[in-house]
Amino acid sequence: MTFDIDKLRVKPGSKVNLAKIDADGTPQWQDKGGVTNKEDGKQRVVELNDRLEALQELLYAEGKHRVLVVLQAMDAGGKDGTIRHVFDGVNPSGVRAPAFKKPTTRELSRDYLWRVHQQVPGDGELVIFNRSHYEDVLVVRVLDLVDKKRWAKRYQHIVNFEQMLVDEGTTIVKIYLHISKEEQKERLQARLDEPTKNWKFEPGDLDMRERWEDFMEAFEGALEGTSTKDAPWFVVPANRKWYRNVAVLEIMVQTLEELNMKFPAAHPDIASIIIPD
Ligand code: ATP
Ligand code: MG
Repeated sequence: MTFDIDKLRVKPGSKVNLAKIDADGTPQWQDKGGVTNKEDGKQRVVELNDRLEALQELLYAEGKHRVLVVLQAMDAGGKDGTIRHVFDGVNPSGVRAPAFKKPTTRELSRDYLWRVHQQVPGDGELVIFNRSHYEDVLVVRVLDLVDKKRWAKRYQHIVNFEQMLVDEGTTIVKIYLHISKEEQKERLQARLDEPTKNWKFEPGDLDMRERWEDFMEAFEGALEGTSTKDAPWFVVPANRKWYRNVAVLEIMVQTLEELNMKFPAAHPDIASIIIPD
């Protein structure tokens, strides 16, 4: 069975209606129903994760490509879990996952791409952005942190910025983890109920939850305004964690395979070199 990641891709210039995308859905996953399906999914995650580990090793060894993954989602959307499961076992020397929190005063005194540009991947590196410059057209737009005249221009800045990174040798993949409002409620409730999750609960998340519709509109604006051929957005239904992991892994593995990477050539004398006793 091939998993066609194109079906999750936001075609440049197309409209996005998130209300019509089922967050419970499992597109491109053969539905066999029930528990077996989930168990098959988990098995697939193990296989794909092995493949990703090998590809990351190759990326690091070859040292030619730079790979940037942008992860965005609502609170409790599964960004942390995705990073933990999908990138489990990769070589930490070649991978970073910077999180973009509320900007500091120092960051706020510069343009919004300043802190982001500093974190982009170098040669051979795989970098996963846990939130990103997209916050500057999401939370900033919803909460009116800057006026519309200012944030409205940012879609084009972002497209240009990302195109520059691509033109200079970066591969970019952007993933929006799509959960439903009901699923968010369950996950936030779990943060209240389970002692080991209490630390994750922030009352501020409830204020954001109240603005759910506004956030969906802002996400649609970002997906429509910035999904390009070279820096595409993928919408991954993420209510079911196993499916989310399968889909993100398929996107990662297929994207890395397209780079046709090769281990660097061996030393010309390798066959005749003798290691002294
Ligand atoms: P978790 O899902 O585990 O709660 P998180 O990604 O929400 O993790 P937090 O520290 O709880 O991490 O939240 C970071 C907060 O910073 C978010 O509310 C986000 O919207 C906010 N933020 C990020 N970038 C910006 C920005 N440019 N301007 C304003 N707020 C921002
Ligand atoms: Mg949070």
